[in-house]
Amino acid sequence: MRVDVVTIFPDYLAPLQLSLLGRAQRLGLLDLHVHDLRGWTEDRHRTVDDTPAGGGAGMVMLPEPWGLALDAVHRGEGAGGPVGAAPTAEPGSDAGDGAAVELAAAPDEPADGRPLLLVPSPSGRRLDQAMAHELAREPRLVVACGRYEGIDERVLLDAAQRYRVVPFSLGDYVLNGGEVAALALVEAVGRLLPGVVGNPASLLEESHEQGLLEHPVYTRPPRWRGLDVPDVLLSGHHGQVARWRRDEGLRRTARRRPDLLEALAAADPGALDRADLAVLAEEGWVPGGRRPAAPSGD
Ligand code: SAM
Repeated sequence: MRVDVVTIFPDYLAPLQLSLLGRAQRLGLLDLHVHDLRGWTEDRHRTVDDTPAGGGAGMVMLPEPWGLALDAVHRGEGAGGPVGAAPTAEPGSDAGDGAAVELAAAPDEPADGRPLLLVPSPSGRRLDQAMAHELAREPRLVVACGRYEGIDERVLLDAAQRYRVVPFSLGDYVLNGGEVAALALVEAVGRLLPGVVGNPASLLEESHEQGLLEHPVYTRPPRWRGLDVPDVLLSGHHGQVARWRRDEGLRRTARRRPDLLEALAAADPGALDRADLAVLAEEGWVPGGRRPAAPSGD
């Protein structure tokens, strides 16, 4: 997968050179290019922002550098010319009146040769594991990191001629810029690419993969500061270990995220069997019924 990130703080993305994603790049599994938006400015001060039309607080990112940047990145170029392998997507042939183009609400719109342009925004689609899986199937992602009060809206409307534009949010809070969201997105998607995580089975057992939270985990020593690893995990009995893990994942989900259980039961009524429902009933959760009063801190 090729990923291009455009930002005014390229150093913010440096941690992507570490650990599993750094290794993935060295192995050629992830082709990451980070671009400095200021490379597409044309004035002495390399200006990327101006006051908001209509007045008000803060600054807004200018359309000119963003337009040039997204045009160049679409062609597989940086501010100084081509970077990396040629992009796989051909320029879109459906260019129309930019102002009339609706932004895509989800990345499952037909690709029609346009790469995805992911735009961090508190008003975007909430990034979750299902979206990470959708994105991991794409050959190419471009991420446009806003700052200040955000990017002039016309940039996204214009970009929709060449990209499938998907605003996405990390959560219902406001960050200073899109870089942290880009880091989270590249990490969440990158670890799903084939070969990035050594044991693919471990990906299946994670929280949010089956609509539940993962069970608690332990390692050696069996006793630490008076606290024991649960006996069943030391029993060597695979069936009992699997049941314990399932039960503890269910309990944790009921206590911390009962909304996930509601969603799972609504999407797939057969996802929770009788044994599951018995465990959940002990936690005070029944399908469509009363939820625990408050999440516990376990
Ligand atoms: N004025 C914008 C609003 O109220 O929607 C917020 C601008 S915020 C200070 C600056 C930038 O941080 C945004 O353009 C976006 O790139 C990023 N950002 C802030 N909160 C975010 C979130 N929850 N998820 C993803 N990106 C976020």
